[in-house]
Amino acid sequence: MQPGPNNIGAMQDWQLLVTHLIDHAAREHGEREIVTHWADGSETRTTWAGVRRDAAKMAEALRAAGLKPGERVATLAMNHARHLVTWYGAVGAGGVLHTLNPRLFDDQLDYIVNHAEDRIMIFDAAFAPLVERMKARWPTVEHYICFDSAQPAPAFEDWIAAYPGTAPWADANERDPCMLCYTSGTTGNPKGVLYEHRSTMLHAISGLQPQVHAMDCRTVMLPVVPMFHAASWGLPWLGAAAGAKFVYSAVNDPVVLCDLLRREKVTASAGVPTVWLSVLQHLDAGGDTLPDLKQVVCGGSAMPRSMIERFMGQGVRVVHAWGMTETSPIGTTGAESWDWDDRSFEDQVTIKSYQGRVPFGVELRCVDLDDPGKVLPRDGLTAGALQVRGPWVVKRYFKAERDAVDADQWFDTGDVAVLHPDGTLQLTDRTKDVIKSGGEWISSVELENAAVGHPAVAEAAAIGIAHPKWDERPILVVVKKAGADVTDTEIRDFLADKVAKWWLPDAVEFVDAIPHTGTGKISKKDLREQFRDYTLEGAA
Ligand code: ADP
Repeated sequence: MQPGPNNIGAMQDWQLLVTHLIDHAAREHGEREIVTHWADGSETRTTWAGVRRDAAKMAEALRAAGLKPGERVATLAMNHARHLVTWYGAVGAGGVLHTLNPRLFDDQLDYIVNHAEDRIMIFDAAFAPLVERMKARWPTVEHYICFDSAQPAPAFEDWIAAYPGTAPWADANERDPCMLCYTSGTTGNPKGVLYEHRSTMLHAISGLQPQVHAMDCRTVMLPVVPMFHAASWGLPWLGAAAGAKFVYSAVNDPVVLCDLLRREKVTASAGVPTVWLSVLQHLDAGGDTLPDLKQVVCGGSAMPRSMIERFMGQGVRVVHAWGMTETSPIGTTGAESWDWDDRSFEDQVTIKSYQGRVPFGVELRCVDLDDPGKVLPRDGLTAGALQVRGPWVVKRYFKAERDAVDADQWFDTGDVAVLHPDGTLQLTDRTKDVIKSGGEWISSVELENAAVGHPAVAEAAAIGIAHPKWDERPILVVVKKAGADVTDTEIRDFLADKVAKWWLPDAVEFVDAIPHTGTGKISKKDLREQFRDYTLEGAA
């Protein structure tokens, strides 16, 4: 950024570069541990000082491999310390870190790697078959390195060992890009969001606040959110600023996670609701608790009320967050209101089941779904299209020719929401998933959340089915818990006092599995396709 005309150079130049984060962590919290539970069951320990040392070696290895400023270094990997090294090493070399989601479909991975023009690919041995399958389709990738094996590519540790790691970080400007993440692209091709040093640093500093991740050097954080999804919610960056201890697991098995949570005395964790469901089920089965756990950040999809109750009942602070790849990704968190302690437990749970409020820097508004020029009141009642703006919100997708925002920088999220008078966000749907019955909106998300509160329901999804009189009526597609039984009528009776009468699904259909996207969310598009020819009784 250029200094303004009145600048006399009174304050120091300090570019907001993410390399400052790792320098700070190594200098001030150098001995704080980074623990990894590997896929083969072994465990290793390094420190922030160790991560910095290896990142510097890696930066030199990348330059020796010919990486030029701004070029992309891709990873295909789970959560572990070497992946963390890569975050800083790639950026420290002047490159752009590109975390790939290994759960995407081959065609998506083909498109993304070619669109990003990745030059170097560093992968876990577990994804070697994927790499072998895709190699011929990825002509831009010149070097392959394997994180945890010397086969079928050079091993990461051997690759960086040849370099002293004494060279300074590459020169950079705070408006330079540092990281690239693609959305999963449920419609059309995935889109790349190119984070800058400045946006990443502002997001990281904001994330340290008590109302966001509330992290400091006493925090022991086990991030379940993958490092390949939505910048791992910023944790690898802000964890360095805090000097927190990290406990990583390269496998998402609830048995391993519970063991690590207990053994390493983990105080804070972050992950999507499905992970917590399996962790809680495992704890219940063994009659166990997690005495050290103080905070759980949960987002990516709505957190069921029963889960919030469960955590809060055990004295765990719940941070229900909303965000998206396009927002770096923190948009809102479950920040408590000033009168929090005066509220009843029931009220607190209700508020936590909403998506929370913005930290400083993020602005939200809702506009009319049919008339986007009309800004809706924050009345806690009127649902509209959710828009967002702020210093860590996308302006233009990678390689796009046009901005993704309007003239006032508002970005349309594709979410439908209600804003409460105190700014609390309540998501009610995705724009393309709303069910419109008799001219009124039905929130598929609220129906689903209510349904998963039933003890026999493992997963539920509501979709609209065409109806001659009402336009659309909701049906609920349900997966039963293993060994549990429940009928259509029992589910509707259960929902009767939880949602408006006219929201009650016209039918409940039981299935073995509900389709999911590459990021593990319910794929309404596929589900609607599956029920394309479905007719409601009396509606044919
Ligand atoms: P992708 O688009 O790749 O699936 P994102 O993480 O970017 O992954 O998805 C963002 C979307 O996830 C949001 O627009 C919203 O629809 C949904 N989402 C995120 N957090 C929540 C939440 N707490 N409750 C409900 N939905 C959420």
